[in-house]
Amino acid sequence: MPNKVAPCIGLLSTAINMDYLVKPFQRVMPEIDLRIGRALADLGNLDQIEAAVCWHPPQGALAGLPNLRLMQSLAAGIEHMMIDSSLPREVPLCRIVDPGMAGGMKAYVAWAVSHQQRFMPAYLSSRAEQKWLEQPIVAPRKHRVGIAGLGTLGLDCATMLANIGYSVSGWSRTEKLDLPSAIKGFHGAAQLGSFLATCDTLICLLPLTNQTKGFLSAELFQQLPRGAHLINVGRGDHLVEEDLIPALDAGLLSVATLDTFSHEPLPPQHPFWADSRIVITPHIATRTEPEVIVRQTLQNLEMIKQNQVPAHQVDIKLGY
Ligand code: NDP
Repeated sequence: MPNKVAPCIGLLSTAINMDYLVKPFQRVMPEIDLRIGRALADLGNLDQIEAAVCWHPPQGALAGLPNLRLMQSLAAGIEHMMIDSSLPREVPLCRIVDPGMAGGMKAYVAWAVSHQQRFMPAYLSSRAEQKWLEQPIVAPRKHRVGIAGLGTLGLDCATMLANIGYSVSGWSRTEKLDLPSAIKGFHGAAQLGSFLATCDTLICLLPLTNQTKGFLSAELFQQLPRGAHLINVGRGDHLVEEDLIPALDAGLLSVATLDTFSHEPLPPQHPFWADSRIVITPHIATRTEPEVIVRQTLQNLEMIKQNQVPAHQVDIKLGY
């Protein structure tokens, strides 16, 4: 049998150091040919590159790889690749879907919801003052949580919250006919208002697309129950950032928990830092483990070589 030639894979990012993927790739395939680059000029002979693993790849780079067979996002989202107008649309674009990532997201969301719903900030203050002070104890079923985006992560989070006992609803683009009975489904623009009216806590788990950019806006906040809690674990650009503090000032929202921001790291002078009603975490809700990126990339490339559809291919027209 002829020896299989090890694949040549480009690790492309203008935002992070991709070195962290080298050892995990080599552990699975010691002979692999990896090219790490912030620009095409870093990648050697471009003809050889068959797959590109990307996080904010350099603009135009993917179109410059003549034999590219797979574009692999190292995350669940692909918006960081879609901003490249020259993206070769005929090449399959895949994202990571992974139970480990969903587990991290569920843990974050459970914390973010219960932290506010069980008045934990007040307990932290009273503990600092050495005061034994009880806050209202509201049963989870009396607290309505809505999740915008009932995809891989949204549905897992909705199910987890319903299992705790929260009253859960979800909103998606298309109708979901097979939702667990404990989750009330809404879909499409026509049902958005009815969905929002059920959200004491609103969680954004949408993908960032042309349709969802700026979704969390002044107009939307007015449709929530007064004093709602906003949790954004989607992408920073889902939120119209300048609309948030006015909505808190007006009492439309009482608190916001944000994990993602338009500019990351959040700049030191950003007004969100100074506002104690905004809980800030540095885009850590969940992460993809390097081993999962390696496994899915190699499997996808192999499937493409065997003329099969790779796993978790996105619809480039829909943008997710
Ligand atoms: P999916 O693609 O699996 O799900 C997307 C969901 O959003 C689907 O239910 C889809 O509807 C819905 N949707 C898309 N467009 C619209 C629209 N225009 N109107 C209404 N609903 C819409 O995404 P995932 O669950 O895997 O991930 C969600 C997002 O989570 C990611 O894109 C990323 O931004 C974020 N994320 C954040 C992380 C963090 O650490 N903060 C880590 C990982 C992901 P339908 O079902 O009808 O198609």
